[in-house]
Order: sequence, then structure tokens, then C-alpha cells
Amino acid sequence: MLNKTVQDAINEQIKDELYSSYLYLAMSAHFAAANLPGFAEWTRMQSAEEVEHAMKLFDYVNERGGRVVLHAIEQPIIEYGTPLETFEMIYAHEQKVTGLIHQLYEIAQAEKDYATQVMLHWFIEEQVEEESNSGMMVDQLKMVGDQKPGIMHIDRHAGRRVEE
Ligand code: MG
Repeated sequence: MLNKTVQDAINEQIKDELYSSYLYLAMSAHFAAANLPGFAEWTRMQSAEEVEHAMKLFDYVNERGGRVVLHAIEQPIIEYGTPLETFEMIYAHEQKVTGLIHQLYEIAQAEKDYATQVMLHWFIEEQVEEESNSGMMVDQLKMVGDQKPGIMHIDRHAGRRVEE
């Protein structure tokens, strides 16, 4: 049985993962409208991954005999600026999510909930990858600066991103 403090914190994280999905989907719409189909695909796949993260937590709460409570999801902004600005926002967002996962882990530690700590190891590792993937996009976009052929090349490559 899940302790209420841990359960509430996981329910909060389910909402944060679904917000991430919504944010990436809004960015995908922005890139689609800007005729950058590769970035639109990259963010769309990321949006789908975030739903998977939420569902991992959803299944875990149920498995532990807890009760999932879905909170309201905030509306993401509509316009995101240049690809570099958008990926800088993604990188900052993923760093924030890493902090949220670490806070959740600290709650599980304080409550001596060992099963939740083990479950969260996957998320801690996943965040290393999320920061690395988005950080690389930022670095590559910085390399090409304002050069349109370079941006289009990165866009085309981003569209072929392989799911891990
Ligand atoms: Mg996530």
C-alpha cells in the first residue's frame, strides 16, 4: 500500500509528465506551422514519450494499491521563437523535470518507501538521456547560428531520430 505523501507526490508528477507532453505537442504545432517538419517530428515523438512516462507512474500507483488522481494541466504557450530558442527552452525544461524527479526521490527516501525509490531509478536515468539529447540539439543549433542551410540540415536529421 502506498503511503499518502508518496502517492500525492507521484500524482503530482503524473500531471507534470502530461504537461511535458502537452508542451512538446505545442512545440510540434509551432514547428509544423514554421515548415520545419523534422523538429515537428522530434517534438511530437517526445510528446508521445512523455505520455509513456505518465503511464509508467499511473500503472505503478495502481500496482501499489494507491489511487491515481489526475490534476488540471496548464495550457502551454503558443509561439516559441527560433529553433535555438525553442531547444534552449526544452533543455531548461528537462533540467527542471530532473529536479522534480530528484525531489520525488527524496520524498520516497524520507518516507522509507524503498519500492518507489527503485521504480524512480528508471526516471533518474531517463533524465540523463533527456538532458543529453536536448543539450546536443542546442549545441548543434548554436554551431550553425543563423545559417538557414545548416538549420534545415539539422531539421532533416532531427526527423529521423530513432526511438531508444
Ligand atoms: Mg518525462
